[in-house]
Amino acid sequence: MPKLNLHQNEHPSTLRDHLDDAIDNELLRPHFEKPSRKITKSPYLTDKNVSKRWKELNQPEVQSQLLDSHTQSQMDAYSKNIEHFIGTVKVPVGVAGPLRINGLFAKDDFLIPLATSEAALVASYNRGSQLLTASGGASAMLLNEGVTRTPVFAFNSLILAGQFVAWAVTQYSHFREVAESTTSHGKLKDISVNIEGNHVYLVFEFLTGDASGQNMVTIATNAVFEYIMQNSPIEPEYAFLDGNLSGDKKANAHTLRGVRGKKVTAEAHIPAELVEKYLHTTPEKMMQFAQMSTVGGTLSGTIGINAHYANALAALYIACGQDAACVAESAVGMTRLEVSKTGDLYASVTLPNLMVGTVGGGTGLPSQKACLDLMGLHGAGKSQALAEVAASLCLAGELSIVGAFCAGHFSRAHHKLARK
Ligand code: NAP
Repeated sequence: MPKLNLHQNEHPSTLRDHLDDAIDNELLRPHFEKPSRKITKSPYLTDKNVSKRWKELNQPEVQSQLLDSHTQSQMDAYSKNIEHFIGTVKVPVGVAGPLRINGLFAKDDFLIPLATSEAALVASYNRGSQLLTASGGASAMLLNEGVTRTPVFAFNSLILAGQFVAWAVTQYSHFREVAESTTSHGKLKDISVNIEGNHVYLVFEFLTGDASGQNMVTIATNAVFEYIMQNSPIEPEYAFLDGNLSGDKKANAHTLRGVRGKKVTAEAHIPAELVEKYLHTTPEKMMQFAQMSTVGGTLSGTIGINAHYANALAALYIACGQDAACVAESAVGMTRLEVSKTGDLYASVTLPNLMVGTVGGGTGLPSQKACLDLMGLHGAGKSQALAEVAASLCLAGELSIVGAFCAGHFSRAHHKLARK
């Protein structure tokens, strides 16, 4: 068999050696022998299953890190959030603030817990928070709410797809009844239709109370999906509960002008002397940077324009028991930095996809609940404030990172804090 010569320009000798070895020894072919290691099949969290798993893993030093006595004492709290449990990972938590927020729902000087292993991150959000607070705070406004599930139905022809839609639009009140029978807090807000040849996507949009709502809308939509499959006069050739139009866990352009979860905008008017004092730069330079990075972002195909919402959201979501994978969609949005008529800085952020909740999901886990409690944001009636906190935190981060680039401090700060 001829030898492959891939990736000649990149680490040529190492890669070639690996490939030659793989070909000579048939390393890449399927291997059907039984795995030498296994873990107990039952996914459930019981004392018996956890000790069985560690017996099978047989790594006492690793066990003592992941299943320490504190974790062991609270093990039951995790039973509805994880399968094949073996312990907990400790992520360091820092606190940024106080961040003054003058919101529709968030009205306080917030001390915000951020869980991360990235040096300079909390320091940067802390600096942005100090600046915003010295400027009178961030004004924040929840604009819209809604979480979708989008079942998809395939028919033989466009005519049948059309007949199905003609039936479906007569069923909205039944759909609402069926969906809302599965939840006491979820409300069906809207149904819209997207036809694509002989495929029909039904877009079910829900209000989910204080839960971020992914499970809630899945369960409610599934009940409607089953109702449709049993009652539709036009039988689909095939159908699926979600046809990927919901934007679940994917950055998408659609919601820039709509909503997934909670849409929040936040702004601040920052006097030039405070920009100088806290960021060591000027509003003009920050606007120049924003213009150039908008072009850069467009050239790179970014959806929306922002510097690093993902840093704030990943750290906040992990600390507060949110679904961290939703950072994929939540970190989409628009940042604007402009010089005002008075020579001061106008800064705003708009995030249309904040998937946050203060009940359900991971929000009741011991340390995650503690982080929400630190801000007084655990439980019913708090999710809208949490969304405004998330957006205001992103605003703080945008100011701080752009300030660091403008003052030439970006690399220095990371070097000092991460390599000291
Ligand atoms: P959940 O914990 O599954 O549901 C929220 C629960 O809280 C419901 O039982 C709800 O009761 C109850 N609840 C009590 N007070 C409430 C209030 N004030 N507002 C709203 N609900 C209240 O959480 P979820 O938010 O629906 O789902 C989030 C989790 O889903 C995340 O952990 C995420 O990782 C996961 N997830 C699931 C999927 C999926 O497709 N299954 C996809 C992605 C992520 P009622 O329903 O009776 O009102």
